[in-house]
Amino acid sequence: MTVPTPTLLRIAGLTKRFGAFTAVDDVSLDLAPGEFVCLLGPSGCGKSTLLRLVAGFEAPTSGTIHLGADDLAALPAHRRPVNMMFQSYALFPHLSVSRNVGYGLKGLGLGRGAVAERIARLLRLVRLEGFEARLPETLSGGQRQRVALARALAREPRVLLLDEPLGALDRALREETQGELRALQRRLGTSFVVVTHDAGEAMTMADRIGVMQGGRLVQIGTPADLYERPADRFVAALLGDVNLVDGRIAGRGEGAHRVEAGFGPFDVATSDRAWAEGEAVVVALRPERIDLSRIDLAQADPATRLSGTVADRTYLGDRIRYGVRLSDGTLIRVMRPAASAFVPGDTVAVDIDPRAAAILPP
Ligand code: ATP
Repeated sequence: MTVPTPTLLRIAGLTKRFGAFTAVDDVSLDLAPGEFVCLLGPSGCGKSTLLRLVAGFEAPTSGTIHLGADDLAALPAHRRPVNMMFQSYALFPHLSVSRNVGYGLKGLGLGRGAVAERIARLLRLVRLEGFEARLPETLSGGQRQRVALARALAREPRVLLLDEPLGALDRALREETQGELRALQRRLGTSFVVVTHDAGEAMTMADRIGVMQGGRLVQIGTPADLYERPADRFVAALLGDVNLVDGRIAGRGEGAHRVEAGFGPFDVATSDRAWAEGEAVVVALRPERIDLSRIDLAQADPATRLSGTVADRTYLGDRIRYGVRLSDGTLIRVMRPAASAFVPGDTVAVDIDPRAAAILPP
């Protein structure tokens, strides 16, 4: 028996048009309590607009947003039990760290003691004890980010919306902060929706990733779902390096489809969908899931084993990336451990793990 996951936030058929332009196009998405969802997509795909609709800074053209049983359309932004943290952080430059964090508590009718206690708790949470009296300009980028986070959490929102929360941080700090943000969210149990255009960041932090393109939510799933079973070539390419190979379904066997590509046949383990014989498809092959081994070309049987010639080799420290030229001229990228020792000109057998390839529409 499957236990239904409770829904905290339910977005249904949400559309936002600006004049003739559709920024958010019929998006439906359920968020569970305590869930961490990343919205991933290129610039202009509608991620921020979707957050702004949930926060109440924009009104939808059509569709609904419910938090629990409540229809949020009836509530203005400041009354919604959600909060939004902006990329710019928007800290008040003339207010101390404590007063920036406490600003979010105004109008809640809390006494001075309760406010002081909550500020202290929030600063402990983001590891900024001792910074109470500092002004924002005296803080590092990472510390400013944590002040903004504490302020956004001050009213204890049920859902926190974060628009590129790590965008202002340099690469090293960004990676460290990804882990911190995730750990903080786990401790609080608050649901987070985080907008990012960085696939690695989404993979590191999210329970589920929603990929947006042209205003539409094209796929939502766990990082592994999206990486291993992308819905289309856009999602496949967004989530990491991938070879996209054109082919045709040549047959179906036990738990696998046989695909005929220009360089020969290979098997792909069956996904949720059955493909018809003769259908044109694209196969997504991750470079690290292709194996190479040395062979003697004279003994290789092209009907049962793919082979190619190493065309180039790039040493990356922890791994080596090879370009391998297949029989029809196709160049595929293959990632192998640093201990691998192929050199350009080597003839190699190319083994594709049927479980690590995905068949996509052309
Ligand atoms: P980025 O990562 O660059 O912030 P995004 O995915 O968050 O991009 P949005 O900010 O949601 O994208 O914008 C989506 C589209 O809607 C863009 O083409 C943008 O120009 C357009 N848009 C957003 N707000 C408005 C507005 N108020 N009036 C007209 N067009 C708008």
